Amino acid sequence: MIYASIALAVIAAMWLLAYHRANAVAWSLGLAAFSAAITFATGAPPAVYSVLWVVTALFAAFSIVKPLRQAVITRPIFGLYKKILPQVSQTEQEALDAGSIWWDADLFSGKPDWDKMFAYPQAKLSAEERAFVDGPVNELCSMLHEWDITHERMDLPPEVWKFIRDKGLLGIIIPRSYGGLGFSAFAHSEIVTRISTRSGTAAVTVMVPNSLGPAELLIHYGTEQQKDHYLPRLAKGLEIPCFALTNPDAGSDAGAIPDFGIVCKGMHEGSEVLGVRMTWEKRYITLGPVATILGVAFKLYDPDKLIGSEEDIGITLALIPTSHKGVNIGRRHIPLGAAFMNGPNSGKDVFIPMDWIIGGQKQVGHGWRMLVECLAAGRSISLPSMSMAAGKLGSRATGAYARVRSQFRTPIGKFEGVEEPLARIGGNTYLMDATRRMTMVALDSGEKPSVISAICKYHMTERMRIILNDAMDIHGGKAIMMGPNNYLGSGYMTIPIAITVEGANILTRSMIIFGQGAIRCHPFVLKEIKAAAENNLAAFDRALWGHMTFTASNTARSLWLGITGGEGVSVPGPLETRRYLQMMTRFSSAFALLSDVSMFVIGGSLKRREKISARLGDILSLLYMASATVKRFEDEGRQKEDLPLLTWAMHDSFFRIQVAMDGVLANFPSRFIAAWLRMMVFPKGLTLDAPSDRVGSQVASILLTPGAARDRLTEGCYVPGDVNDVIGKLEAAMVAVIEADPIEARIRKAVKEGKLKQRDTAGRRAAAVAQQVITQLEMDQLRRADELRSEVIAVDDFEHDLSRATKEEEKWQPDKKMAAVASM
Ligand SMILES: Cc1cc2nc3c(=O)[nH]c(=O)nc-3n(C[C@H](O)[C@H](O)[C@H](O)COP(=O)(O)OP(=O)(O)OC[C@H]3O[C@@H](n4cnc5c(N)ncnc54)[C@H](O)[C@@H]3O)c2cc1C
Repeated sequence: MIYASIALAVIAAMWLLAYHRANAVAWSLGLAAFSAAITFATGAPPAVYSVLWVVTALFAAFSIVKPLRQAVITRPIFGLYKKILPQVSQTEQEALDAGSIWWDADLFSGKPDWDKMFAYPQAKLSAEERAFVDGPVNELCSMLHEWDITHERMDLPPEVWKFIRDKGLLGIIIPRSYGGLGFSAFAHSEIVTRISTRSGTAAVTVMVPNSLGPAELLIHYGTEQQKDHYLPRLAKGLEIPCFALTNPDAGSDAGAIPDFGIVCKGMHEGSEVLGVRMTWEKRYITLGPVATILGVAFKLYDPDKLIGSEEDIGITLALIPTSHKGVNIGRRHIPLGAAFMNGPNSGKDVFIPMDWIIGGQKQVGHGWRMLVECLAAGRSISLPSMSMAAGKLGSRATGAYARVRSQFRTPIGKFEGVEEPLARIGGNTYLMDATRRMTMVALDSGEKPSVISAICKYHMTERMRIILNDAMDIHGGKAIMMGPNNYLGSGYMTIPIAITVEGANILTRSMIIFGQGAIRCHPFVLKEIKAAAENNLAAFDRALWGHMTFTASNTARSLWLGITGGEGVSVPGPLETRRYLQMMTRFSSAFALLSDVSMFVIGGSLKRREKISARLGDILSLLYMASATVKRFEDEGRQKEDLPLLTWAMHDSFFRIQVAMDGVLANFPSRFIAAWLRMMVFPKGLTLDAPSDRVGSQVASILLTPGAARDRLTEGCYVPGDVNDVIGKLEAAMVAVIEADPIEARIRKAVKEGKLKQRDTAGRRAAAVAQQVITQLEMDQLRRADELRSEVIAVDDFEHDLSRATKEEEKWQPDKKMAAVASM
């Protein structure tokens, strides 16, 4: 009995020590207490308790006396570690070092500090930014007609180009001191989102110079002379920039570009100067065909050692006027569903002076790091904002259409089958916008969150794909027939663009999110790697023992929180979200444990085990997005009407986390360790469900009903008040149809009561007015609702030859042609 009690006490004590990440002294004291209990309370023979005391003394000595520990235990591990540590190329190292970590590190810790999250400021526009978004940006939106842009002219109209340049939209990120708008990341994102709800082509045109374009590179790395020359010109739209990295042989593996430059002397403006002779071939370059300055990434070599001792200098970035002799640029690609400028460019043996290198000679060889750093900001804004537009427009327009369009005498949005995709559209939009807002806060506080930027890029574009697919299904034929009245088709066609650019999605999910996250966000892994690189035993010792305590803690936490489901964990915030934070604390611990064990068991080859890495990345991403969603709910004043959106987003995220964790365990290479991990992570099995039908129905109802919750969800979407506009008309139709409902209900009631016997609608309505079932005003309202409904469900049709006037006699005349064939 006494042994059983001691065993229980030992387990409880060990669990408590591990759970609370106790230090070596506390563990030693615990072991001493155990030895004392055996010695004095059990009557165990001296041989037994003597051994115990020796073990206790050894443990205390090795864990507390660091030099001893380092010499006896850590040193051999250090040797082994250095041997098995995978080789990291310079390019990979620069990518790993680039950018910063932020809230993602907390989620990796197994114990996120929720107070810290709530303390992050809210994303807000300044008065000036608000005025700009509601002024020039709305004006621009009113000038954009996507059908005209993508089908009639395959370009933005000249007045739109002029407006974009004149209003400084190509210089949103350029500081005011250089004449730019100098707006916050949040304002930048709001602008791109709003324009995207109107025209993807215009949004890309604005987005690219403000993303990974020459401006961003110049701001951070340009020489004073380069900044003074280019930034004011870019801000005023006097220069159109583009940036060329992608080569036909190097897309995702951009670090492997074969484009090169040789340091040499050459003639420039009549004098011999030091410079670079460049050869490159690029494709897919946005704005390339109309660009006046071309940013180019290439590998620089200095065989004659003219600028230093290194021959292979590395990736370098240059800024070349497109009018420069030898630059071939101007041809166009045609991206799917859009008409923004995009095309190839090349040059052979083009000589440029050294001061055309971004940052001058001092920045040669640092191009990769510069690109990755800048990508961390741009990638968090551009495509996530475009995806957000799909979510906002998708929610607003699909909800309205599903309310206006009836089949089986029921608005289609009321069918349970349609509610399901509607809920996905609404729930995903709420979560995506929360993610965007929280990420903008990071950027506006000076962070360059590289892991978060990859999370945003991948997950927001994937959810955009879900939303647009669902929106298309709900619209049916209406969204399939192209024409000025189709507000979804172009967006749907452009999905693959967002999926492919700024880090293709499969690669981003499989390699980057966890690959970079595990090293950057983990509290100890990077320290261990650095210690190994610097051959610093003391630093390695600190990191290693910290790591061991961390893993032990996460094992204890994961098991306990798995049993309790996180209940009892002390978390801040309102009642509505506390349970969610507790569950996220549980998942954070389980994720930290899974990551550690995966890295330990799979080691360096985790890089190649992309399916495991991708699932681990999904868990981190889902934790990030779910936590951002809780913050959004809090920041927006805990809106009761938004609770279904919050609930849907949370349940969906937790269910997906469970699926991802289950996937890691089911495919873990060591079955024995997988079985143990499953016990630690899911001690009660897979207990979480996807969002319920009831919650889905409530979310759908938000989309189907004009009101504050729908407005909050779709805030930032361009909704013109003009009923002649396709979106304006949809809005007006929704309101009119809803207002007509009670009037129609009165007529139906009168029909049921036998007061109205007419079979046709017009006759019945006229009789209803005559019998004062409805007023003349209400009759007019019904007519107006009918008119708007018909206009909304209408699709475009065209002349059979699409009005392409041809001078040839032989237009497409099937009857004539068939007759001619028959007479042959
Ligand atoms: C419309 C558009 C605009 C663009 N604008 C620019 C621009 O302005 N400037 C510029 O420099 N570039 C631009 N690009 C290029 C863009 O960045 C590349 O298309 C992108 O990097 C992918 O390269 P790729 O198309 O050659 O695909 P590939 O690299 O051939 O990839 C094909 C597939 O393989 C996957 N893949 C590759 N490696 C891995 C891996 N290790 N693990 C898992 N999956 C992997 C990818 O995810 C992708 O799904 C643009 C592209 C498009 C389509």
